[in-house]
Amino acid sequence: MKRIDLHTHSTFSDGTLTPQKLIEYASNKKLSAISITDHDTISGLNEAFEISKKFDIELITGVEFTCFISDMEVHILGYMFDKDSSILNEQIKKIAQSRKNRNDKMIEKFKDLGINIDYKDLLCGTNGNSITRSQFASALVKKGYAKTKDDAFDKYLKDGCSTYIKRKDIRATESIGLIKKAGGIAVLAHPLRYTKSILKISNIIDTLIPYGLDGVEAIYPTFTKDEIKSIKEICISKNLIVTGGSDFHGLARDNIDLGSGHNNDISVPYDLLNKMKKITNDFT
Ligand code: AMP
Ligand code: MN
Ligand code: MN
Ligand code: MN
Repeated sequence: MKRIDLHTHSTFSDGTLTPQKLIEYASNKKLSAISITDHDTISGLNEAFEISKKFDIELITGVEFTCFISDMEVHILGYMFDKDSSILNEQIKKIAQSRKNRNDKMIEKFKDLGINIDYKDLLCGTNGNSITRSQFASALVKKGYAKTKDDAFDKYLKDGCSTYIKRKDIRATESIGLIKKAGGIAVLAHPLRYTKSILKISNIIDTLIPYGLDGVEAIYPTFTKDEIKSIKEICISKNLIVTGGSDFHGLARDNIDLGSGHNNDISVPYDLLNKMKKITNDFT
């Protein structure tokens, strides 16, 4: 069976493999297609498409937007959009500036605690294009302020900590609108990371469908078989596509492998990609 991975991060956000290394690795793992879905950026895609020509692998245009529904942070994946869309690129530029402002504020907050972190400390194997709390966590571990990245999130980085700064409030509905305007497919990422209640997930999905939500990421490493089944059933009942991916971050999350998750707990069939292609054809 041909397998794919529709959720990966490169050094253009908080993954530790460059687009080249990521594509090489995917090709070695015999994946038929991958999407690079960096956080709030598409800057790595042109380079990735150039490199993908040298490998027998299909690269799918992707992005993962951080956004909110009420006060809850949710992530929206975008696929198969026009990466040269001017409205998309303008919005992404604004988001990048807001991330930079937030990172500056976090650095100041850490300084107030006597913890000095500068931009060089935040690279952590990435190229600094889109710095997230993941890099703050790695820097805090490296400097000895936390034992593990989870510990860094608990002590310093999660909502409620004095050094936590909320992201610019971008509505999930806005991100979906943006992806659609750029001709893409909008997918709710890893729904069971927001709540374990299938009923609540179903309600979240219902609020997003009128804005153009096309699908839900049902196949994801931390989900149980039953959970995956429940999300797939919701997708069938609401006429949404199913997607899946590992959320591979390279060494930044080294217990999760490309294409297979934790100890082969996921496998994403190529057929899902055919369904995505079919709905983009229906748009045009
Ligand atoms: P941000 O988008 O800057 O708010 O940062 C969120 C990023 O931090 C996500 O992309 C995750 O990859 C990462 N992250 C969130 N929670 C954890 C955690 N407990 N341990 C390690 N990384 C995390
Ligand atoms: Mn990440
Ligand atoms: Mn995510
Ligand atoms: Mn992700």
